[in-house]
Order: sequence, then structure tokens, then C-alpha cells
Amino acid sequence: MLRTLPILIEPVAGEICDGYIDRLAATHLLDVPDIRRELIRHIGRQGWNSSDSRLPDALAQLAGLPLHALTPSFEEHGMWVRCGHPAWSPKKCARCRRFDTPRTACTLCAGGLPTLTIARGGAYCTRHAQWSFRDLHATIPETDEYEWAERQVKTTLWERGVTLHTGEINLAAALVRAWNDGTPEPCPLHTRSERFGLASPRSYEETLLCAYPDVIRVATLITTRRVITPLLDTAVSALTQADRFTVAVAAACGGHPNEGLRMLARAIVGYAHRSVHYAAGLRRTPQTKNLACPMNRALIVAAGRQRACLLRHATPAQIRDTGWKRTGGAPRPRATRNRPLQPDELALP
Ligand SMILES: [Zn+2]
Ligand SMILES: [Zn+2]
Repeated sequence: MLRTLPILIEPVAGEICDGYIDRLAATHLLDVPDIRRELIRHIGRQGWNSSDSRLPDALAQLAGLPLHALTPSFEEHGMWVRCGHPAWSPKKCARCRRFDTPRTACTLCAGGLPTLTIARGGAYCTRHAQWSFRDLHATIPETDEYEWAERQVKTTLWERGVTLHTGEINLAAALVRAWNDGTPEPCPLHTRSERFGLASPRSYEETLLCAYPDVIRVATLITTRRVITPLLDTAVSALTQADRFTVAVAAACGGHPNEGLRMLARAIVGYAHRSVHYAAGLRRTPQTKNLACPMNRALIVAAGRQRACLLRHATPAQIRDTGWKRTGGAPRPRATRNRPLQPDELALP
């Protein structure tokens, strides 16, 4: 039987056990290894493993919380994935039961202590108007726009399988930064960054903090099927497509197209076209001319292997199979499903 620690700490929504243990230790002036040892003894393990399914309940007992208080709710926080169970379009799959990569939680929600959460959502706490992502924390003055962006991350983007860690928002941040770099001074991004005490936002987390609403508007645009599908038509020149793409992204940024954005748009569309050829080539193997790898799966495989996240958001039936070169065949669905998502080559890491 575990004894209960005296100070009650309310968990943050979607808080992970490791984060909660850190807060528990800090509040009780205990060492993290001592708490871990107590938990290991209780569940009868040899060593520490954060993913042990018995851990959340043992920890809840130690902390004096109701049973399951630290078990993440798949219904509430589960991630939409493209896993092929049975289709490759995003859904909250009960077989995969995937959660997002843990991210920094709002420190005001967490009683002033750092912790990590997998809760459905992004970097902005609407309750406290607080920004928390990676090592950046800030109070946001323009709450309406940030609230809109956060809602968009929780609803539309989340249900497209897009989170802060799946790559699409990284690509949107690169586009927003390129548009701002190409805009005559003072560009909106730099004006806003001064307010947060940042000289010039370069990284993903800095761009996201200073331009969350713009980045989320662009992320929504580049994950919209009817926008992305025609863009991936390799029968139309990538340059023509890139010009259309530039106009759409600039409008989402609230301005006019400029050269900085056009350069990046050309690189992105060119890269996406090569990845579509790669996807089509996956359907051919040395043995057979056409392997039974449907285009919907080929696009997901190519998006992962080529790090081209736009391919995940196209309508497969409308992508023309123009690739003729074999590109090595598709792996087993399990390999594709378990492959971690990475940001594109051209995105902000
Ligand atoms: Zn699944
Ligand atoms: Zn908060």
C-alpha cells in the first residue's frame, strides 16, 4: 500500500506522469528518484519505465488523487492519425490510440511549475492568456486573435491530424517568416517580436509566438484538400502552381505577394511535385508493373519518406499517376503507421 503525500496537486489537463512527478517532487521537497523508487516498488517492476500502464494509477494513489486522474483520456485528447485502419484518411483510431508528443503546459495552470501535457490543443492557454511552447513563455496582449488560433488548432487542424509536432504548422511558420522577411520594414512580425523582447524571430517557437494567428491561418490553408490537391497536379508547371500558392499564402498573412515568399513557395511546390512522382513510383516494383499499393497509401508513404507533409492533405483519387520510375515499392502498412512524423526539409524545425 502506498502512503499518500500530504500536499494535494491538481493535475493539468492531459498532464503526463513524468511532468506530474517533477511537480510533486518540487512541492514536497523530495527527489524525483525517490518518488520513482516508491512507484517501482508498488507496481513490482525492476526499473523505471514511463510508459508502464500501471504507473498513472499508482501515481494517483501516491498523490491522493482519484483513481484514473492521471490516465490520459483518449476520447478527449486522442490524436487523429492516418494509420490505414482501414483507411489512410485521418481518424481517431481506437486500435492505435495515439497521443500527441508532450509539450510544455501553461505554467499558471500548473501552479507556477514546469510540466508537460499531451492535451488536445496548441501553445496558448485561453484561460490565462498565457503562451507556453518549448522554452518560451509570455503573456499575450491580443487575446481575440490568439483565442481564435487556439480554437482552430483544437478543432479543424486537430481533426486533420495536425498538431504542433506533425510538421504542417512548421511549414506554415516557414511561409509566414518568408513573407515577413520579404515585406519592407517594419514588417508586422518584427514589430510584434519587440513586444516580446525578441530581436528577430528565427526559430519555429519564436515565429509561432509572434505570429500564431497568421501561422494557423496558413496552416489551415495548406491542409485544405481543395487547395492542396490542384497544387499537386504535376501536369501543370510547378512555377505556375507556386505563383498561385504565393497569392493564397500572402492573403492568409494579410498582405500582398512578395519575392521572399515566392522563392520559398517555388521550393515547396517543386519539392511536393517530386514527392508526388515518388509516390506514383512506389506503386511499381520489378516484379509487377503495378503493385497493389493504392494511391492513398502511396501518398502517405511518400509524405513520410520524403518529408513532404502536403501530400497527406490531398484527395488521392484526384492525384494523377504520372510517375514512371520505380521508387522501391511501399513498405508494410505497419512500418508506415509507426513512422514518426517529421517536419519538411523546408520547414522550421
Ligand atoms: Zn490505427
Ligand atoms: Zn493556463
